Amino acid sequence: MKDKLCLFLAMVMVVSLCAVPALAAYVPGSYTAQAAGYGDAVSVTVTVDETGIAAVVLDVSGETEAIGGAAAEALVQQILAAQSAEIDGVSGATVTSNAVKRALKEALNQAKGIEEGEKQPVSDGTYTGSAVGFGLRGMMKAEVTFKDNAIADIVIVEETDSLTGEWFANAEELLIPRIIENQSLAVDAITGATSSSNGIKNAVAAAIHEAGGDSNQWYTQISKRDDKVVLEGYDVVVVGMGGSGILSYCAAADQGASVFGIEAAGKIGGNSVCTYGPMALNSQYLKDTFNEGEDYINADDVYNTWIEYVGSEDKEDIIYKAVNNSGTSLDYYVENFGFEFEGMGLLGSFVVPEWTKLWCVFTGDDNNTSWNILGPNKTYQFLRALDIAKEMNEKNDYLTELTASTLIFDEEENIIGVNAEYYDGTQYEIYGESVILATGGFLGNDQMMTEYLGSVVNAMGVTVNDGTGIQMGKSAGGATYMMKTLPMVHISQVRNLIRNDDLTADQKAILSALALTMDQRMITNQGTSWGNQNQSGTTDEAITVDILFAPDYMYYVLYTQEDIDGIRANGLSAGQASANSMFLSQGGTLPEAGVAVADIDEILAVGQQYNNVIKADGIAALAQALNCDEAVLSATLDGVETSYYAVACTSYAYGTVGGLDVDANMNVLREDGTPIPNLFAVGQDSEGVCNVDGKAYTPWGGQAQSWTFVSGQIAGEQAAQLTREE
Ligand SMILES: Cc1cc2nc3c(=O)[nH]c(=O)nc-3n(C[C@H](O)[C@H](O)[C@H](O)COP(=O)(O)OP(=O)(O)OC[C@H]3O[C@@H](n4cnc5c(N)ncnc54)[C@H](O)[C@@H]3O)c2cc1C
Repeated sequence: MKDKLCLFLAMVMVVSLCAVPALAAYVPGSYTAQAAGYGDAVSVTVTVDETGIAAVVLDVSGETEAIGGAAAEALVQQILAAQSAEIDGVSGATVTSNAVKRALKEALNQAKGIEEGEKQPVSDGTYTGSAVGFGLRGMMKAEVTFKDNAIADIVIVEETDSLTGEWFANAEELLIPRIIENQSLAVDAITGATSSSNGIKNAVAAAIHEAGGDSNQWYTQISKRDDKVVLEGYDVVVVGMGGSGILSYCAAADQGASVFGIEAAGKIGGNSVCTYGPMALNSQYLKDTFNEGEDYINADDVYNTWIEYVGSEDKEDIIYKAVNNSGTSLDYYVENFGFEFEGMGLLGSFVVPEWTKLWCVFTGDDNNTSWNILGPNKTYQFLRALDIAKEMNEKNDYLTELTASTLIFDEEENIIGVNAEYYDGTQYEIYGESVILATGGFLGNDQMMTEYLGSVVNAMGVTVNDGTGIQMGKSAGGATYMMKTLPMVHISQVRNLIRNDDLTADQKAILSALALTMDQRMITNQGTSWGNQNQSGTTDEAITVDILFAPDYMYYVLYTQEDIDGIRANGLSAGQASANSMFLSQGGTLPEAGVAVADIDEILAVGQQYNNVIKADGIAALAQALNCDEAVLSATLDGVETSYYAVACTSYAYGTVGGLDVDANMNVLREDGTPIPNLFAVGQDSEGVCNVDGKAYTPWGGQAQSWTFVSGQIAGEQAAQLTREE
């Protein structure tokens, strides 16, 4: 599954069944059509023989997993049974069901040889449409101007996506001209900004309806190019231009290498531009600027704590560098590439409270006036560094919207370059002496998540990061290391964030509080008891890292009918009224404890609709709804038979940690421990070397971003040096 700062499932169902004999109706073959769904367009591919529907494939990957995604299988069965688009649909997933029906009708029309009809006309003028984007605090509104049955202009007049970073601006800048140029909503979402892109497309679709048109007729397919571009003669090719990729790029360029960078998203920066900042020990710059020139941390303490945490000295040389290079690397990039930091100690260490100055914070743009809820806007710092690096060699360059897929090998199985595809379909072969893998881990790859971590996790980080770098490394014989280090999670929230207006912001806050409170009975999805177990070794309860130790990284907070009646009459408890959804707050205000919540039933009903709340009358019904063992659940609940409300609380991950095995030069290692000389892995593609299976990543604050600086500098310098030696 590709892309999105968010939280969706690629759900592709293929079911074949013998067609029910009927009159010859179709030209045999497969036909595809799309229609606007809840999140993105849904796509239906129908395979017909002369008399009926033989197979249906639904792609509802843009729909909310637990609603549209879960309905997909039922919809396929209904279509095959009905042999037409005249199906009931799935209740609770009406928008997805209707979109599937419309797309299926269009695909069947194609199969009947009926030409794509004239578009229903739209009136000239400016019309408004709203849709959900990525924004947690409100919907997106577009003003669309039509002239002569064509879209003349699109202006987004309201959105809250920008509160979480610069992705929306990227989608707005790239996508809107493409919709207008192609007069089609079938243009691809901008990689890395899928939710914002879908928001724009769906808001335009709504405006088309307002103007009297039918948006389903605006999905004209866009053909891809089949050109090929060959780029040769690079010393270093960097795959992934997030933090670690850019920092590698800069260090290699600084050593005189010619460097090409490949970035899949519409903009550079990846997760690294969402952070507060890196850990840095006794950086000269930080000491001089903020600590009167004095050391501010005992490096040996940090090193020893780290070794103790991972429980092994196997990678002691690397961990030594992770600690001791963290300050010098930061200084290197400050001095040579203009990075700036706001200060230290704005956030304390999660594990060792006295390490107050461990973590420093990037300076945001506009003199720090434009912080978003995830940290300062700092893409400009990474762009500035790239500009400096590009000037170091006239051949240096990089390209966004270019997705790397595989390594290129010569006849002796040596790595000589990288294959990639541009968003318009153009194929690229980029040749270089060394390759640095910097694709940010595998959070966006459901299969790898399930294989290594047992379950998919809701994403708060970039899901373009789908394990491509790790797969590329493995294709060259590279080994992996600590792939089962738990995903990076500091935040929990309800299972499906409700981004539309079905609840007010204050009502959403109450629903979140019901999921996040620590003073209520909690159960796992296996029916066993759960509590804040403090297994993570952290000191801060609010960060709820412990959810990582619950099966499937989630649990249910359980309320009886009596509890709910109590909230309706007497309000939230003190614990519920102080529940904190941190970065994933949706902007509402919680009532004070003890203030009656008269609309609790409405909140729970909408929660049920979005699969955040499961209501069950009695233990057997609850066990069935959770798909767990009734006897286990009954024992957990002491056999108390009543109506239960189970509110799902899930973790939201920044990214994954385990990656390729590397040595202290960031060279990827084979299973036998020998290095692959011209292949390097950095950032989350190799962060397992600092961590350990079954535990959270070393949680002392800023360590992940610090690794991008340390590993980036080492890999860039080593790759450049290798070229020089050759
Ligand atoms: C919201 C948030 C807050 C965080 N806060 C902190 C913090 O304060 N301190 C801290 O230490 N850590 C923090 N982290 C974690 C930290 O940001 C990451 O560990 C670090 O940025 C990872 O850097 P990276 O270069 O490995 O990945 P990224 O910066 O994500 O870069 C990977 C890049 O590879 C690109 N890519 C992926 N696949 C391909 C492909 N096939 N072809 C081409 N390009 C590809 C992606 O688009 C992306 O640009 C935070 C993370 C998030 C999401």
